[in-house]
Amino acid sequence: MSAVLRLARNDDGAPEIFRSVQGEGVSAGQPRTFARLSGCNLHCTWCDTAYTWNWRGSAFQHERDAPGAPWKFDPKAEMIALPVTEVAALVRENISKGVVITGGEPLLQMDAVVALIDALKTGAPELLIEIETNGSIVPSGALAERVDLFMVSPKLAHSGNDAAIALRSAALAAFAANPRAFFKFVAREAGDLDAVAAIAADHAIAASRIYIMPEGTTSAALRARELSLKPAALSRGYSYSDRLHIHMFGEKRGV
Ligand code: SF4
Repeated sequence: MSAVLRLARNDDGAPEIFRSVQGEGVSAGQPRTFARLSGCNLHCTWCDTAYTWNWRGSAFQHERDAPGAPWKFDPKAEMIALPVTEVAALVRENISKGVVITGGEPLLQMDAVVALIDALKTGAPELLIEIETNGSIVPSGALAERVDLFMVSPKLAHSGNDAAIALRSAALAAFAANPRAFFKFVAREAGDLDAVAAIAADHAIAASRIYIMPEGTTSAALRARELSLKPAALSRGYSYSDRLHIHMFGEKRGV
């Protein structure tokens, strides 16, 4: 029996699988097919994909909460479980030279993700596999050996997560030891880079593997943060990542 993956849904209810341009990180600007998985073990207060985890009845705070109207979602409306074979077929219908498995947190469904990669690579061994992860879960050997690029995004204090959950040494060490892992830190102000430097020092992560990306879901917010973050990143030898999809499409699903 095929393994099952839980995916996020587009506004029309279809699984969130789509072809677009990677907007962030190492492969920014390149054509990619995205599969967005549902579920996350973290609860960032500014998360722009809260429809993957911020379920009705939960107590998590989000900055878009309004008095009497917390920004919550119905898992029955937002999540769809599909056999890996069906997910692979949908990805192939939208294929490009690489596939980004994102979330949510994909490593919560690690075994099924391995099965998906194997299904996708069958007959297409050249296909690039990229995983976007919050870096709090140790990847299995089976996953690590199949992935061409891990874009690891450990969450800093401004995310609202407890550091004991968000910044797990064993997981960070595993990614630090993997030369195919790069790190993308979401930052709000230049002072956030002190925390990035501390994590990098603790895990011997070279500056050349680190990207700083502004938090924001509008072009105006990204541009405003860029003014201070870009020079601060470059002065430390880090790379700077924009969020191209926000400039191109705005904050939408499936684009
Ligand atoms: S780790 Fe990513 S998906 Fe999870 S809550 Fe934070 S921003 Fe959202």
